[in-house]
Amino acid sequence: MIAITSNKITEDRLAEIVRHIEKFGVQAHVSRGENRTVIGIIGKAEPMLAEQLRQMSGVEEVIKISKSYKLASRDFHPDNTVIRIKGVEIGGDELTIMGGPCAVESPQQIDEIARLVKQAGGQVLRGGAFKPRTGPYSFQGIGVEGLEIMAEAGRKHGLLTITEVMTPEYVDVCAAHADILQVGTRNMQNFDLLRKLGTIQTPVLLKRGFSATYDEFLNAAEYILAGGNPNVMLCERGIRTFETYTRNTLDLAAIPVLQSLSHLPVISDPSHGTGRRELVESMSKASVAAGANGLIVEMHTDPDNSMTGDGVQSLFPDQFARLLSDLEKLAPLCGKRFDTKKEPILAGSWTK
Ligand code: PEP
Ligand code: MN
Repeated sequence: MIAITSNKITEDRLAEIVRHIEKFGVQAHVSRGENRTVIGIIGKAEPMLAEQLRQMSGVEEVIKISKSYKLASRDFHPDNTVIRIKGVEIGGDELTIMGGPCAVESPQQIDEIARLVKQAGGQVLRGGAFKPRTGPYSFQGIGVEGLEIMAEAGRKHGLLTITEVMTPEYVDVCAAHADILQVGTRNMQNFDLLRKLGTIQTPVLLKRGFSATYDEFLNAAEYILAGGNPNVMLCERGIRTFETYTRNTLDLAAIPVLQSLSHLPVISDPSHGTGRRELVESMSKASVAAGANGLIVEMHTDPDNSMTGDGVQSLFPDQFARLLSDLEKLAPLCGKRFDTKKEPILAGSWTK
């Protein structure tokens, strides 16, 4: 259920209404929007509460919400969520570009790729220290050492960092080193992991399970939000279909659909979404045209020798740079800003 109040409502009156709601043993989440303020009510509310709210001064409308996810829904939070990390805004009108290898392989590899991501105009360095692999004998990532390598490269080059976390036990150490934690497609419904991520404030990029519906995806996000971490972004990374030419089928429609159902930023991953380098440029541009708030793209200096099989979908550095330069022209046509020459305001400006 949501109660909509006028935007002119005073803080005192809003607090009175919230106190009244809480007397019923349910939670009230206030979202102050540009045009209206919404109080989202979570928990089993008695019908009497709805009746009373309708009569309270300051309340304009009370609406029952039947969706199973609440905090993730746009009904509860009409304005877009903008996640601010060290000067970078994700989910607003700026396009966010995350680039880097599938896996952290060595300090030299990450240092060089970070330099190239920064030079091309990206804001976030990607790289997995813990890799979820289909087979147990495949390279599993270099672990904590990889987190340190990522953090060092981010600091040196003025980039945010994103890395995957696979188990609840590793959340704290990953959060101590990285700015954004990625939940991979295979872990979208690892509820213990999602619950643990709800207990911290580090932003989370939640990838869509490769066979998850929008409803299941948004319910997975709800786990993190319900735990108290509001900093969640959704990532469309392709789903499994009957087609085998591409590794996955990038569901471009997911971008506007998720943005209509939810206020959370939506990031597209054209690398895993296609599994083919030659498709990454077109699917990146299509994602931006579809309204994506950002992209996460694999890039490697020596993709033929990458330690995961994802070299085949990784851009070469010059392709990555050309893509970002094209996106600089495309972004304004799609209602976004993207400036590849933006001052490196981040370099050396924090310690983590
Ligand atoms: C990755 O980002 O390298 C990755 C393993 O992604 P996904 O979980 O989408 O397969
Ligand atoms: Mn990968």
